Amino acid sequence: MAELARDRGLVLFTQDQAETDRLVSVLSEARGQLEILVKGARRLECPWGAALDILNLSEIIYYRRRLGLHLLREASVLQAFPAIKKDLARLEIGLAVACWARDLVPREIPDPRPFRLTLSFLWALEGGAEPVVLLRAYRLRLLSLLGYRPVLHGCLSCGAKGELTWSPERGGLLCRSCGGTGEEVPPRIWRAMEALLRLPLVALSRLRLPERDLVLIDALTQEFRTAQVAR
Ligand SMILES: [Zn+2]
Repeated sequence: MAELARDRGLVLFTQDQAETDRLVSVLSEARGQLEILVKGARRLECPWGAALDILNLSEIIYYRRRLGLHLLREASVLQAFPAIKKDLARLEIGLAVACWARDLVPREIPDPRPFRLTLSFLWALEGGAEPVVLLRAYRLRLLSLLGYRPVLHGCLSCGAKGELTWSPERGGLLCRSCGGTGEEVPPRIWRAMEALLRLPLVALSRLRLPERDLVLIDALTQEFRTAQVAR
């Protein structure tokens, strides 16, 4: 028999299934990412509709099944983040956060940290923090939390601070003397990435990064993810 479970979770993704059902991906506090089937979710009279909107924090009660998808019994909204959803720029960042969490957070692993990290970023976004910087910080912190922290304080082999290149396969910065062959990463970039990883959320908005630096940080982060995270 399926066991009944209760949890808090952030809705990361939804997908219509069959005639009236919906598959919902939830980043839960207690059990990592969950896939839950919501029977009749698209019927007008479905009472859980709003609780299952993307980027909602909801309380969910569901039947845990060992085989096949879990089944929702009921759900209620705890926080809908209205300021994020009213503003297109914020919404885009919120959705990008949800997308990274969906791709990277393991399913059914009891670890509350990805939930707490993601929730803290959504609260910061809701509270008016600078969204552009917030997203870059989230990506690096999520990777770090999941065991993929890039080495950014100097060469990963000898600790040198000069002539540093990006070596995503090795795990971060690598100097030329230690075999680094890629393009050099300017100190302002790796210092900015360190700050994105370390600064308290409230201080991130003070970090002003020009567009070209953001583009470079995105590229380095993406290369790092591709090289480090098994797909
Ligand atoms: Zn070195």
